[in-house]
Amino acid sequence: MHRIPFFSYPALFTAQEREFQAVFSDVGRRGAFIKQQDLYDFEKSLAAFLGVSHALGVGNATDGLEVALLAAGIRPNDEVILSSHTMLATAVAVHFAGATPVPVECGPDHLIDPAAAEAAVTSRTRAIMPTQLNGRTCEMDALGRIAAKHSLLIVEDAAQALGSRYKGRCAGSFGVAAAISFYPAKVLGCLGDGGAVVTDDANVYARAFELCNFGRNMAGEVVRWGFNSRLDNMHAAMLLFQLKQYDRVMCRRRQLASLYTESLKDVAEVVLPPAPDADPDHFDIYQNYEIEAKRRDALKEHLQKCGIGTLIQWGGQAIHHLKALGFTQNLPYTDRLFTRMLMLPMNMSLDDGDVHYVSDSIRSFFGHKL
Ligand SMILES: *Cc1c(COP(=O)(O)O)cnc(C)c1O
Repeated sequence: MHRIPFFSYPALFTAQEREFQAVFSDVGRRGAFIKQQDLYDFEKSLAAFLGVSHALGVGNATDGLEVALLAAGIRPNDEVILSSHTMLATAVAVHFAGATPVPVECGPDHLIDPAAAEAAVTSRTRAIMPTQLNGRTCEMDALGRIAAKHSLLIVEDAAQALGSRYKGRCAGSFGVAAAISFYPAKVLGCLGDGGAVVTDDANVYARAFELCNFGRNMAGEVVRWGFNSRLDNMHAAMLLFQLKQYDRVMCRRRQLASLYTESLKDVAEVVLPPAPDADPDHFDIYQNYEIEAKRRDALKEHLQKCGIGTLIQWGGQAIHHLKALGFTQNLPYTDRLFTRMLMLPMNMSLDDGDVHYVSDSIRSFFGHKL
């Protein structure tokens, strides 16, 4: 039987084991572990890739989001609007920045609904934090208009969206600051935790640098309270090596998305993400391939029996479902989406035949001809 895991962590390493070992040996023999040249080279390349002035390696994207919010000037008692269809990390970052996360509805694109975001604005709202989910960028023109109208900051959760573009601009470059994740299963993944804060604003960069460096500024003087969150130099070296091949990775993921579209577009029981060429305003990198399906749970079970791993994002819990954290919002659109959404395998280990097998298994479940 075919076996298609949702994501193969060993493959992340074994696919380029020799190259990675060469990087490890090189870095290890130099003893270059913390705040060394590979980190600075990676930060520079990442900023150039995104078209922003500054990138700061941090321990993980959750730290990065908190730092981005604090550096952008979020204060206690502020409210920050975010999509309820996001990782817990987005809300956690707002909480630990001292502010209140306000989850709102997403739209049919699974991304924050700009109208819902505007409807949630109060006198305490300081920022909108759009999550560039699944490797697709939100409707940033609409969000930008709302932010300008109500004098709000935009801080992007671009954890899933390195290289995703809207009208030619990269996710992570729209707001005052953004964070990106290098968690292993992310499109640019390292062999452990890692993240980056990116910004065009030199002051925000300086504050983020201080916050992550015990409050020390670039001259080494202590100028505020700060903590310690760093991207390991070893990880940075590995990420720099992978960033050089990133165009190929984005291209392949878009190819896989096209294959899914071709083989499933006539199946009325599922709603697919937009195809790569569906909308010239969007360049998606398909961090995830999240479909909507009738009889979702039965389909998931069927695919499991066919040897295909699938995943329901966030374990099926939206932010507003987390009652232990005090959320009381009623978000019926998101509730319904969370009974229908399912992520199909989308990663660099897949060959074309794998996508056909997944698609055929879905077709046969719904009684469509192969
Ligand atoms: C992965 C992810 C994060 C957190 O990233 P870490 O690097 O694991 O802290 C935040 N937001 C979203 C949308 C993510 O997918």
